[in-house]
Amino acid sequence: MSTMFCYQCEQTAKGTGCTAHGVCGKDPMTAALQDLLVYAAKGIAGYAHLARQRGAKDHPVDLFVVEALFTTVTNVNFDAARITALIRRAAIVRDTAKANYEIACKKIGTQPETLSGPAAWQPAADDAGLLAQAHEVGVEHRKQTLGDDITGLIELVTYGLKGTAAYADHAHVLGVEDDKVYAFFHEALHALTNPKPALGDLLGLALKVGEVNLTVMGMLDKANTGAYGHPEPTVVRVTPVKGKCILVAGHDLKDLDALLQQTAGKGINVYTHGEMLPCLAYPGLKKHKHLVGNYGGAWQDQQKEFNEFPGPIVMTTNCIQKPHENYKARIFTSGLVAWPGVTHIADSNFAPVIAAALAAPKVARLNISS
Ligand code: SF4
Repeated sequence: MSTMFCYQCEQTAKGTGCTAHGVCGKDPMTAALQDLLVYAAKGIAGYAHLARQRGAKDHPVDLFVVEALFTTVTNVNFDAARITALIRRAAIVRDTAKANYEIACKKIGTQPETLSGPAAWQPAADDAGLLAQAHEVGVEHRKQTLGDDITGLIELVTYGLKGTAAYADHAHVLGVEDDKVYAFFHEALHALTNPKPALGDLLGLALKVGEVNLTVMGMLDKANTGAYGHPEPTVVRVTPVKGKCILVAGHDLKDLDALLQQTAGKGINVYTHGEMLPCLAYPGLKKHKHLVGNYGGAWQDQQKEFNEFPGPIVMTTNCIQKPHENYKARIFTSGLVAWPGVTHIADSNFAPVIAAALAAPKVARLNISS
């Protein structure tokens, strides 16, 4: 068995799978732990699905499943310690979902069933044990037991759910959510625990994921435009402005908004990078005059461009690549993004980023590459 197997994204090695180390920078241990976290989420989903069918919903349970899925999206969380903590929390959340289900059954006078597989799983006591568990639930194991076609469809559904979770999380932080979407996450994840899934059922589920994802994209559009107005044609500055600077990458408009509010009047210029470029067209964001423009191109160019950027960099969602030592001390993560040894902003308090910007030498010239 190879030390890891992941074919989650288009960066995958040789177009077939990362087997020694992720092209994205994911190491085998993190890859395995991510697989185990998804497995744990399936266990939560099983009981949450049954509980909801009996009228019992639990918002924290719903949010945890979304966060667990989003955490395992490519280029989000490379920190094995944080994923381990989520795995351990997942077992507790699963017990809550199970208790909700049993209480709901009692209320309506029915006998609860006991689920198996991930719904009965308990996390191993140490890292070695968790890794052993992870290898029993990874893609390679599925390929060996279910074959390539069934595994491929299971992964298609899983990756679709992960992407949908990323959109749902972004919509949720701006106050837009839909219980039917949470219900679908649980139903779909629970369906994936079937030990003998039919190819046709999985195909139908994959199509349904696409349908729900369109709904969630609509929710995110509503969240973004509700909070910051409709994007409008905007001339974007791509040349430097003399002064202190912060670069923001990712997709999280709320994080950018919080940073802009916290940097107001501090003499710091804020630039978007790559996927953050569209933020410059939202009236509610571009009203901040110190959001001066865009620096750099797409996420895959970040190592060269971040190296040349003379201030701190904030990664808000799924774009982070292995930080080069030259800029590791001035890169920050927020939300679900994580890299071992990189300072994490957990509560939208960007004071450490602002301090780093103010401490950086004053910028006379940025080497703008695009
Ligand atoms: S997520 Fe990382 S490890 Fe997985 S296929 Fe993509 S590049 Fe490879």
